[in-house]
Amino acid sequence: MSSPPASSSEVGRQGKVYLVGAGPGDPALITLRGIECLQQADVVVYDRLANPILLRYAPRAEWLDVGKRPDNHPVPQNEINGLLVDLACSGNVVVRLKGGDPFIFGRGGEEAQVLAEAGIPYEIVPGVTSAVAVPAYAGIPLTQRDLACSVAILSGHRSANSLDPVDSVVPCADTLVFLMGIQNLPAIIQSLLDCGRSPETPVAVIERGTTPAQKVVTGVLADILERAVEIQPPAITVVGEVVRLRDKLAWFENQVERPLLGLRIVNTRPLESETRDELGDQLRALGADVLELPSFQIIAAHDPSGLDRAILVLAEGKTSKMGASDGAAWDWIVFTSANAVKFFVQRIDALGYDLRLLAGTKLGAVGKATARALTGCHLKPDFTPARFTGLDWVRQVGDLAGRRVLLPRSEIGTSDIVTALQEQEALVESVAAYSVAPARVAPDALELFFGSTIDVITFFSPSAVRGLVDMIEKAHGAGQAQQDLNRAQIACVGPTTAAEAARLGIRVDILAEEYTVDGLVEALLRWRAL
Ligand code: SAH
Repeated sequence: MSSPPASSSEVGRQGKVYLVGAGPGDPALITLRGIECLQQADVVVYDRLANPILLRYAPRAEWLDVGKRPDNHPVPQNEINGLLVDLACSGNVVVRLKGGDPFIFGRGGEEAQVLAEAGIPYEIVPGVTSAVAVPAYAGIPLTQRDLACSVAILSGHRSANSLDPVDSVVPCADTLVFLMGIQNLPAIIQSLLDCGRSPETPVAVIERGTTPAQKVVTGVLADILERAVEIQPPAITVVGEVVRLRDKLAWFENQVERPLLGLRIVNTRPLESETRDELGDQLRALGADVLELPSFQIIAAHDPSGLDRAILVLAEGKTSKMGASDGAAWDWIVFTSANAVKFFVQRIDALGYDLRLLAGTKLGAVGKATARALTGCHLKPDFTPARFTGLDWVRQVGDLAGRRVLLPRSEIGTSDIVTALQEQEALVESVAAYSVAPARVAPDALELFFGSTIDVITFFSPSAVRGLVDMIEKAHGAGQAQQDLNRAQIACVGPTTAAEAARLGIRVDILAEEYTVDGLVEALLRWRAL
């Protein structure tokens, strides 16, 4: 273990460690308290079994993966213990995110002991353990009147070295649940038969339960080994009469409303996007296995001076440099994305003003999400076109000649809308409200992206396309991106995004007609039904 911690008075702020159960795999099975802890975290220490999608609740925290080191071995437990102590001693709020429940075979008890000994404040946030949830998603109640009134949860590891736990539990528990028991399945089955369980006892082996990749094999003690040859860890083995109930209760596989089942779909939206989770959640609800791979991140503009100047001009109610002479400084402020709204409003706030600055100025919104971002600030857009590109806005809004238009947008945005406004003889001032940067990606997500079958990749913006191309080229060298991307179906929202994909040599297969999350989901469903 690391050196003893300094007292809190020596290090200033005292940190705290939350040992949080992440649930069994389905990201919706984390607890409310678990999410609250992630939201406050400075550092999240997570491993293999905790679904990395959950990191979305801690976008500003540092993420430390202790499930796998570069040499492919997990970080040893004593190093993890030392890390938790060190991080807390430096004043961090640490979430130790563990699969299932932290105290069920997760070594959470050992970590808590170390923290207690080091005098570090800690809290245990129980989780939904796979021991119960995985059978539940396989339609197997662990107890059932007349069939089973007791359950034992066992480690498959230990039973290989010593058959004692099985020996002592078998006579008294009706249902047995083995965790970590795939490699030792032959020894476990043999010991159960040796202890007198009937060869006809029903058994289920469940791989990756509660996720779209859930695989269930059932049989009896006499034949389960042959039936389960393809099962890979992590998997759970359930032994007992209750397994028969699955014949009627296999609800997870039998859901009819899961047309995207079996598809791995990549969500490239940035963590900061307001509708990012909406897309992932909708796709998951339809059965897709969603790989969260944000391909860029949205940050404040490197040079906010233009934005600040615009806000000050609004504040002073004075003329802009373009010579407006009375009333509001601009006739229109046109927002082309929800981010433009967000950063514009944040900056007004940061400079000490409020939304009264916008009185007398018309507000334009390009796209439903942008309009929603405005209404979210209690601002009603004066004009949102029926279709959703910037060019549509310019074409449909009416006479713009001589109108003063402020355009807060991305530092690297395309200039189409500026040109179109100028063609209409508007006096345009474009200011950088935000910028984009390379994304922070959980290493497991990249590994899955490169190492598994990907069915669909979704893009909502040109930045998303460029971001993923950069990410691939960084990993595999220039010129690799097209090949890597073209192995999947490419789904784009909006013609600007599709044009960027085409420019980069990427084939676009699915194009959303409506430029929203719903529009994309609809396009995917239509494509799936072909
Ligand atoms: N603390 C965890 C268990 C950690 S031990 C919990 O409460 O769930 C790791 C074992 O859990 C794996 O070997 C496997 O047996 C089981 N496991 C965890 N997640 C699983 C999943 N989604 N499907 C099947 N088994 C799972």
